[in-house]
Amino acid sequence: MKILVTVKRVVDYNVKIRVKADGSGVELANVKMSMNPFDEISVEEALRLKEAGKADEVVVVSVGPAKAEETLRTALAMGADRAILVETEDQVEPLAVAKIVKGVAEVEQPGLIIVGKQAIDDDSNQTGQMLSALLGWAQGTFASKVEISDGKATVTREVDGGLQTIDIKLPAVVTTDLRLNEPRYASLPNIMKAKKKPLDRHTPADFGVDTTARLKVLKTEEPEGRKAGIKVKSVAELVEKLKVEAGVL
Ligand code: AMP
Repeated sequence: MKILVTVKRVVDYNVKIRVKADGSGVELANVKMSMNPFDEISVEEALRLKEAGKADEVVVVSVGPAKAEETLRTALAMGADRAILVETEDQVEPLAVAKIVKGVAEVEQPGLIIVGKQAIDDDSNQTGQMLSALLGWAQGTFASKVEISDGKATVTREVDGGLQTIDIKLPAVVTTDLRLNEPRYASLPNIMKAKKKPLDRHTPADFGVDTTARLKVLKTEEPEGRKAGIKVKSVAELVEKLKVEAGVL
């Protein structure tokens, strides 16, 4: 079985985000970019399934600018076999990404597609669900455990009330949650080897997808800073402040 894994290039999670002066978006110039953390978890899971003999090839796909090649090379250095870059300078929204990945899946015919639960830049949490709907495949979202056997995946999902375990028929789409695994680091020899692994280039038009934005960003602003706290001397003072100043009692 082949596993297809989506990886997105996003602002590194350690970077303190700055909003552009004109409010049109966040500052991306000279900012460190990395693989979306949920996608690192997806790549790790695909590699573990391959190592356990449940898959024979791991293919990674990214939709983004030419520099997304670095992100794909990171996935190849972790151990993925092959990469596909669907190159565009547009900010591609989840629906267009899902349509492109559907096109890739039709060519690649994977038995499983592993998608991150959400991209930490747009926080949409939509791509995996849309992809499963477009393909007409089963979905197991927010996975914290995935087991493959007899043409099905048993997925333990993180839901509000705790954990839910479901069986889904393959081919399927699984989206990864934080507790699924601890992604490996790429070793230096593997980073060198990854430079020679195959990377195919396409454009959204190759899959008949128009990436023109359907959403209009009206304004981007920083969240209000938190006000400094104060210490109160007694419970009576606390109650007084909650009643009079905060107006919450
Ligand atoms: P989102 O729906 O935008 O929160 O993204 C959820 C997941 O979809 C991410 O973790 C990625 O696995 C995948 N994804 C979203 N955008 C892209 C992209 N441009 N290229 C590759 N994968 C993507």
